Amino acid sequence: MILGTMYYQHRRSKSYHNMISRIKMKLGRMLGLDEIRWRSCPNGLYSVNFHRIGSMQETEFDPCVYSCTAVELDRHIRFFKQHFEIIDLKTLSELIKERKKLTSKFMCLTFDDGYIDNFSHALPILKSNNVSATFFIATGLIGSTIVPWWDKIAYLIKYHQPKTLRLDAWKDEVVYVNSQEQFIRSVLHAVKSCKLPAQAQIELLEQKLLHQNGYPRPEFMDWHHLNDLIKSGMEIGAHSHNHDILTKLSEDELSYELNHSKMLLETQLKSRISAFSYPVGNKSTYNKQVIDELKSTGYDLAFNFQPGINTSPCNTPYDLHRFPIAPGMIEEDIKRMFSYAKKY
Ligand SMILES: [Zn+2]
Repeated sequence: MILGTMYYQHRRSKSYHNMISRIKMKLGRMLGLDEIRWRSCPNGLYSVNFHRIGSMQETEFDPCVYSCTAVELDRHIRFFKQHFEIIDLKTLSELIKERKKLTSKFMCLTFDDGYIDNFSHALPILKSNNVSATFFIATGLIGSTIVPWWDKIAYLIKYHQPKTLRLDAWKDEVVYVNSQEQFIRSVLHAVKSCKLPAQAQIELLEQKLLHQNGYPRPEFMDWHHLNDLIKSGMEIGAHSHNHDILTKLSEDELSYELNHSKMLLETQLKSRISAFSYPVGNKSTYNKQVIDELKSTGYDLAFNFQPGINTSPCNTPYDLHRFPIAPGMIEEDIKRMFSYAKKY
């Protein structure tokens, strides 16, 4: 009950903030303030996050994990280079350690999950633009035959095409309204909001849809790809081992997720892993217990998946905000996303 109330309050304050932000954006546009706001963006750390790069129409898996096409990625990076000083995490760690006031607009480029298109599509573009990025890897997906829970759910929906879905543990039935992509998004939201582990929910969905045919091959990098990323001047961070929501885990499971992913990456890549990004990354997916465990495991930095400008990253090294890049965004959208963002 208490948890339910907290969840409701969190949802309410989030939607209230989103509403205020939308009103501000609308008013700003009407009054012609967009350019003034963009020019007065404060110094600080602006981190952006990508997941998959490519065409979301062509995948058998989750289309909602796509951030942009390769052409869009190239355009975004050229734009970022014009307006920000792109730094790697090593430099960011030093700035944080020295507790220096940021006197410029810095940016970190990050990619989550470790999909193969990060190597085939993103790496050549990063190299040709001469910038470094960090790839946060869920080690359990690297070079394995495991299809992650969000891709399984999207595949089940695409394969069986149900028009409604409901599990007893969900708050509501999810109904197909506008598009398959929207339906997948709503089902994923129901799964994330449910207290049951994602894999348990998938087994129930498989039974419900009478699914017996397995899944296509997963599309993740292997250890050779990750070693090549490092040789090309990129950085690697951890994103847990199984990509479970950390606040749903027992103490032992949490410790395993943070330790095992770090140990595997350090052994395979022969370099120290000091940064982490929270799976899913909204406020409910990490807490003080998770942060304490990160500190004792030897991580120096951690990124969430909520938009915001980090004006003093040295005060919140385990809660660094990142702007999500979404398909179809153009320069104006990105400028407005930064201009009206919350400052931390
Ligand atoms: Zn992820």
